[in-house]
Amino acid sequence: MKLSWKIFSNTFLVVLFSLTLEGVVLLSMTFHKTYLLEVEREKESIENIHRELVTVLAYDSSTLYKEPMKSIEEAIDVLKDNWQGRSYRISDESGLVIFQSDDAEFSDREAGGLSPYRIKYSIEKKGDGYFLQMSVLAELLGESVIIETHKDLTQIFVEKEDQQKIFILTVIAVGILSALINAVNVIKLTKPIHKLIYAVKKIRSGDYTERVKYKEKDEVGILASDFNNMAEQLEEKIKLLKETAKKQEELAGSLAHEIRTPLTAMIGYADLIKRSKMEEEDFLYAVNYIISEGKRLEALSNRMMQLLIEKNAMPNYTNSTVQILLDDALEAMKPVFDKKNITVKKPSVDFPVRADLELMKNVLLNILDNGGKAAGMNGEITIEAGCKEGNVWISIKDNGIGMPKEEISKIREAFYRVDKSRSRAEGGAGLGLAICSNIMNIHKGEMLFDSEVGKGTTVTLIWKGIVDEQGV
Ligand code: ADP
Repeated sequence: MKLSWKIFSNTFLVVLFSLTLEGVVLLSMTFHKTYLLEVEREKESIENIHRELVTVLAYDSSTLYKEPMKSIEEAIDVLKDNWQGRSYRISDESGLVIFQSDDAEFSDREAGGLSPYRIKYSIEKKGDGYFLQMSVLAELLGESVIIETHKDLTQIFVEKEDQQKIFILTVIAVGILSALINAVNVIKLTKPIHKLIYAVKKIRSGDYTERVKYKEKDEVGILASDFNNMAEQLEEKIKLLKETAKKQEELAGSLAHEIRTPLTAMIGYADLIKRSKMEEEDFLYAVNYIISEGKRLEALSNRMMQLLIEKNAMPNYTNSTVQILLDDALEAMKPVFDKKNITVKKPSVDFPVRADLELMKNVLLNILDNGGKAAGMNGEITIEAGCKEGNVWISIKDNGIGMPKEEISKIREAFYRVDKSRSRAEGGAGLGLAICSNIMNIHKGEMLFDSEVGKGTTVTLIWKGIVDEQGV
């Protein structure tokens, strides 16, 4: 059963049930009150008749009647003017009517069924009418007589039936009205739930952009807003997953391409050696070529491993100083820089730093190497360092070829090179900055570039590497 039907039928049944119950209770209370009032009045009436008969039949000087009556008929004759408008009958013990005030249809009642002075009454339906017949067994002049009254109660029964009809019509009208209001409410209430179901179906089918529009602050509103938040996060995660998958695909493609060129050349030279008798000099050239391309492939494979491993590595933090860190990297770069006669200007400041020293040295080597390649013969590299708000920063500026601004956003991607042939000739595979970027990420830091074509490039490394007073 659908939720909307459950809410609708439950509310409708509760309204109908409570209305009917209240109506039935109210109607029967009103009817019983009127009915009991009539019964009480009739009881008083029958008691009056009996009392007055007893009075006139008794010899009592305190009454108006100085002489005691000799017969019941005589007493009735004296009293009947007092009882005008009442319907009554007086019979003897055997049921023989002594007197009847009018032609009311009394039902016969045996004296045996009555207890002395105990009023007995019943409602009888005759035709369309309802009549209250009241009887009492009394003793008059030493004889048992039955005094009976008869009252037409048709009016209060007709009123009851009229009220019942009005009540049924009211129940139908209120039922229809409540069904309408209920239906509108149920539709309003379940509409956002249907929207949620629709949105869930959409998301299940792969459309993560679907959202539920529902502004109310009720429980459904909270659910809709939580759902939207969840869908948003899911959409972002899926987007990220797709981007990662795309990047991996591109990486695999670039890697295949990088490998293919040296492999083709190596296979070509090896084939040449195999097929033809070569001069000693040519033979050595071919073998050297195969060795150098093999080394290039080996270096590429090492860099790839580095790229993959360092992406998710946990940095092994150690304390050192900025001077030690820089000296270590510059020492390794010395042969290269000397060969190109590159001047390096170091900062004079020194302060403690905290980093995975091996990985950070790797970053510095890559940046210095790129700077040296860009600056070329007699180039200049200026290094500055400092700390700000808990962060360490080291900037490495070269006066080299620089690069266009639009390239800066791409150079961190694996295998990306601004000048492919130049970079390749210098032994680069476009993996250095991708590796540096991963290392800075695991240090929760960043690597910023500022470059101008023909003027040079400044690379700034920033990470949370300040050592506090406790030395941590
Ligand atoms: P590669 O190993 O080819 O140097 P990198 O990832 O280290 O790869 O660098 C990517 C590219 O960014 C380089 O090929 C180069 O074109 C550009 N680049 C990096 N540093 C500099 C720099 N200091 N000056 C000019 N170009 C640079």
